[in-house]
Amino acid sequence: MESVQKPTVIFVLGGPGSGKGTNCARIVEDFGFVHLSAGDLLREEQASGSQHGEMIKSMIKEGKIVPSEVTVTLLENAMERSATKKFLIDGFPRNEENNQSWERQVAPKVNFEFVLVLDCPEQVLEERLLKRGQDSGRADDNLESIRKRFRTFQEQTQLVLDHYGKQGKVRTIDSNREPAAVYADIQQLFGSL
Ligand code: UDP
Ligand code: MG
Repeated sequence: MESVQKPTVIFVLGGPGSGKGTNCARIVEDFGFVHLSAGDLLREEQASGSQHGEMIKSMIKEGKIVPSEVTVTLLENAMERSATKKFLIDGFPRNEENNQSWERQVAPKVNFEFVLVLDCPEQVLEERLLKRGQDSGRADDNLESIRKRFRTFQEQTQLVLDHYGKQGKVRTIDSNREPAAVYADIQQLFGSL
């Protein structure tokens, strides 16, 4: 009997403003992945008038992490709808609760490759986000929310990175460089998949 290939999954993590969205768009072009940004899915869910809208809105503004029950469902639905089964999951899992739900509900059904981590100092991220905030229209690209997002990353997301690091599943790229140099390293990484 012919076996059906499991979907491929790569997580993309890094502080806010580290270049996740920008590099994911390029990986999509060159390597045929589908880009699923957990933050974008949550913003769409909020804008659609969902029952969770108010909760999502306040969590985003406060730089807090939406319960996995909501986020994992959005990701699973998006994965099911997609004809292409190679996924870059951007901005997730952000804490241990997110990751436990993922490992229980989704991980058995996919072929997980690695976590791509974009590493950049907070001072640089802060400058980038304040600049982006001038026209991003995002409720969380202001200094107060940015600092809360940094704290959430340090206190919660870092633990997820440690978890995958222990399994040898983290690939870290220095994203405090010009975009072409960052992407050249990423291209090399994906070229050897
Ligand atoms: N968020 C969340 N769970 C996720 C992804 C995002 O709760 O899995 C929320 C969280 O409040 C985060 C915000 O959405 O601060 C924005 O996330 P996004 O990934 O869009 O921001 P980025 O890190 O790319 O700047
Ligand atoms: Mg993003």
